[in-house]
Amino acid sequence: MPAPSLESLVSLCKRRGFIFPGSEIYGGLANTWDYGPLGLAIKNRIQQEWWKRFVHTRRDMVGIETGILMNPKVWEASGHVSNFGDPLVDCKKCKERFRGDKLLEEKIGVEGAAVLTLDQVQPMLVAEKIGCPSCGAVDWAVAKKFNLMFKTQQGVIEGEGADIYLRPETAQGMFVNFKNIAQTSRKRLPFGVAQVGTVFRNEITPGNFTFRTREFQQMEIEYFVEPGTEGPIFESWKDVMWQWCLDIGLSPERLRIREHTKEELSHYSSRTLDIEYKYPWGWGELYGLANRADFDLTQHAKFSGQDMTYTDPDDPKKKFTPYVVEPTFGLTRTVLAVLLEAYEEEKLAEDDTRTVLHLKPLVAPFDLAILPLSKKEHLSSYAEELHKKIVQETGLVVDYDLTGSIGKRYRRQDEVGTPKCITVDFGTIGEDAAQGEKDTVTIRDRDTQTQERLTISALI
Ligand SMILES: [Zn+2]
Repeated sequence: MPAPSLESLVSLCKRRGFIFPGSEIYGGLANTWDYGPLGLAIKNRIQQEWWKRFVHTRRDMVGIETGILMNPKVWEASGHVSNFGDPLVDCKKCKERFRGDKLLEEKIGVEGAAVLTLDQVQPMLVAEKIGCPSCGAVDWAVAKKFNLMFKTQQGVIEGEGADIYLRPETAQGMFVNFKNIAQTSRKRLPFGVAQVGTVFRNEITPGNFTFRTREFQQMEIEYFVEPGTEGPIFESWKDVMWQWCLDIGLSPERLRIREHTKEELSHYSSRTLDIEYKYPWGWGELYGLANRADFDLTQHAKFSGQDMTYTDPDDPKKKFTPYVVEPTFGLTRTVLAVLLEAYEEEKLAEDDTRTVLHLKPLVAPFDLAILPLSKKEHLSSYAEELHKKIVQETGLVVDYDLTGSIGKRYRRQDEVGTPKCITVDFGTIGEDAAQGEKDTVTIRDRDTQTQERLTISALI
């Protein structure tokens, strides 16, 4: 563990139905990906587990779901219209366009590149003699800011509608509903609002499989607190996020926390840290934790003319604009990290290797697989009954696979990360005592490949 390269995981994802290239029969659409049956199963499990942990089981949290389309004023107030962009440079020779900061990363480091001002980009490219990745020329035009928000139009007649944006983060849906939530949920500070949803960013250089795509899903929390109390709350969220990473199976050796430098902070943040994961190409962001202070609520109060303050129910004279601590979890990025971490090409013997996903049962697409040893009608119908019974009585997600040699079927389940396989044989149905006693089955463990014989009643 983990995956030796990104390519090996991409290939497994295609082969086993986790993730497919988007619109593939039309030649695809650059950097779009579709989740197949097993990829969706993992994604749903992560999302459900997250919701259970951060919303269901906590009295200080509520969940909402807000629109992808919002009043464009939201994005003026949030600063996204003026601040949310990347410095782009055009190669004058071949006319290709690149992110100037990315081109400089190798020379001046990720942190150095993140703090560049727009005016510094082109002179530095020239000074560092950084050539165009396409044609090699060092002939850069002056860098321009490119807004990352996708623009579209609302209205039936093209060209006459109002310009609106596809949301680049779910956070603003929580901020603009702060008053509604505070009044109707009867929550007292500190409390948080969670949302899971799709967001869009018109990234100039997407890539590395599903790591950076123009459409992705976030699991976000806006945690509203009384100003002055945010320090310890920020720290406790850091611990909670770290623990979540471990619980979904990520190794602490491939996790680290990186605090943003002052120059690097987003326009809304007074403190931000990233939880980074060590991907096959190096360290990169997995999650973020930001102290947004009262920036967003203050801005929305200003732009909307509405009162966005909170009044202490015990002391009506105590009225203030809450501060916000924001833990953000990329959902689609979590799927990628979990898959990379779980992947192993395990050498079993001189000329035998198996590919196995050591997924935590919590995030595996199946809990179990039932594999009848033979296709013979009376054996397979027994296995089908057992499948039905387990699914109905335990609620587990159980695969059923009848085709191929038992060895091949085990390997297939290893590749999709099924923790346990149950084999129904002629012993199970009382026809071959050598295979086992009646009403017993063989349970095979994915990671150790050990097998044991258990009675069915002990299973359910
Ligand atoms: Zn060029």
